[in-house]
Amino acid sequence: MRILVFNAGSSSLKIGVFDTGGEAGAQVVQRLKGGFGRFRDGGCTVHLQAADRSEDFTAPYADLAAATAAVPGLLADWGVTGIEAIGHRIVHGGEAHDGPATLDPETLAGIEALTPLAPLHIPANLNVVRLARAVWPDLPQVGVFDTAFHLDNPPRVTTYAVPQAWREAGLRRYGFHGTSHQYVAERAAQAMGQPLGDLRLISVHLGNGASVCAINLGQSLESSMGLTPLEGLVMGTRSGDIDPGAFGYLQRELGLSVAQIEHDLYYESGLKGLTGSADMRDVEDRAAAGDAQAQLAINLYAYRVRKYIGGYAAAMGGVDGVIFTGGIGENSASMRRRICDGLQFFGLRLDHDRNLAPDLDNYAAPHIQAYGSKVAVIVTETAEQLQIAREVAAHLARPMPAARPIPIAVSGRHVHLSADSLAALFGEGYQLTEAKPLRQPGNWVANERVTLVGPKGTLENVAILGPLRPRTQIEVSRTDSFTLGIEAPVRDSGHLEGTPEIRLVGPAGQLDTDGLIVAARHIHINPADAEAMGLEDRQLVRVRIGTGDRALTFARTLVRVQPNAFTEMHIDTDEGNAAGIGRDFVGQVAAGVEAFVGG
Ligand code: ADP
Repeated sequence: MRILVFNAGSSSLKIGVFDTGGEAGAQVVQRLKGGFGRFRDGGCTVHLQAADRSEDFTAPYADLAAATAAVPGLLADWGVTGIEAIGHRIVHGGEAHDGPATLDPETLAGIEALTPLAPLHIPANLNVVRLARAVWPDLPQVGVFDTAFHLDNPPRVTTYAVPQAWREAGLRRYGFHGTSHQYVAERAAQAMGQPLGDLRLISVHLGNGASVCAINLGQSLESSMGLTPLEGLVMGTRSGDIDPGAFGYLQRELGLSVAQIEHDLYYESGLKGLTGSADMRDVEDRAAAGDAQAQLAINLYAYRVRKYIGGYAAAMGGVDGVIFTGGIGENSASMRRRICDGLQFFGLRLDHDRNLAPDLDNYAAPHIQAYGSKVAVIVTETAEQLQIAREVAAHLARPMPAARPIPIAVSGRHVHLSADSLAALFGEGYQLTEAKPLRQPGNWVANERVTLVGPKGTLENVAILGPLRPRTQIEVSRTDSFTLGIEAPVRDSGHLEGTPEIRLVGPAGQLDTDGLIVAARHIHINPADAEAMGLEDRQLVRVRIGTGDRALTFARTLVRVQPNAFTEMHIDTDEGNAAGIGRDFVGQVAAGVEAFVGG
């Protein structure tokens, strides 16, 4: 499928034409890329590039609208025809969009309503959508949202500690640059030769706008940007983190209005506020020539990034790889060095030569860490347009699986024991005895029970499920985790890296073991049922339970295709209570594919 992508900023427009293969994961080939910028005096600069031709010129396009209107003519001049779909970068999707969306009138109205959250970008984005619709009225237009990747960040990340009325008015953290962070994370996982779902990555996007993102086992955990793209790092013209008390102080001391303060935080701060120049190349040159302001700016810039990397490593309980991207992340060896030099304490060391001039051609993602570094460091060019083209193709190709009922089982808290744990709790040589079989073939509930002990409370009589497993795993609900007083992460069964410890007590002894999780909701399904429902292993789907005003949709439900599985969805007691159902409920469930996760 040939896809034209528009990426409209507040003052620039990038385009790309891509051919995507028919199947998921097929190679995407860029046919053309272009950029329009420096709009002034009734004209702008244009850069166009194809495999065998590259041109830079100025053109009489006075604004973004004029540049967009010129695109069909330029495509024709460059022999690019046969566009089948159009993708748009949309900076904000609010709470409605956790993936690409077809830009129908209702969706566009929803996006327009978000204008107060991104007053510069949304009007520009929508303007391009309208122009593209006028030129290509019959082509599908799909929006890909900068916020979507972060939308499932946990509440402890998205919530500001402010009055309820403010939160109800929409004050929350969103996070941006999601398309870039997702792309580079997937690219880095490929370069590291490991599934994204097994890695703890920190993506550092340093362009004119800049943000860091923690990607924990394939999912965005947190971005340094918040309600708006102002929070977090020092940027070209934006301040990043600042004490909110500054508003009152500046108003009282300098008589500035909220609008003036906001303007200055967006456009007169960051590198520009510190040095007069928003361009890191200038700042680096000046610092090298002895300019104290520029030196301070560079130190502050690197320090802030390093602080976020350290914070995110702690948030994830470790880090396997750090990725640098964006104009500064890709090109400034000295900035990468300055950021990484404080991170030797967790085993991250750069290689001097590899860091100097990594070759990023053709979407390469070279490693630049030193031999023996515990943390991989990867540099790669961000490819937002390419990622948008991929997502548009996947969105349009996505089959709507047949709606079909799935039985739902509510799992109470339980443990799976390893042979060592069994011996510690019940004595050497003890064998569990089967009380009753479970519906998943080969699985059963034991007669034996254990007690879970946390710093806050104790849960007694917890079921043990057989047979034994290689690692002990303790599955509780979120409510249980508060009873115990230990924060348990939501994890797919068996993914126990970095999980917290808990004390188990049995009749013959006790042990402290890691493996405490809140099990991610999932669907066990056998291959025949999966095929009948159009579901695939490792897909994330939405499952709708019930009808009417108590209907409830569970997002991010993981499909696990296993031979011989008894097809049913597993949720925990908190989720069952929310849906008003008890154990072993058989409900009407319709599934819609949401995304895929790495295996
Ligand atoms: P945008 O966020 O607008 O897409 P970019 O990702 O192109 O911006 O990043 C622009 C920033 O990258 C500018 O501050 C620019 O100075 C910086 N940059 C580009 N090349 C270099 C380089 N060789 N050394 C240092 N900084 C660079």
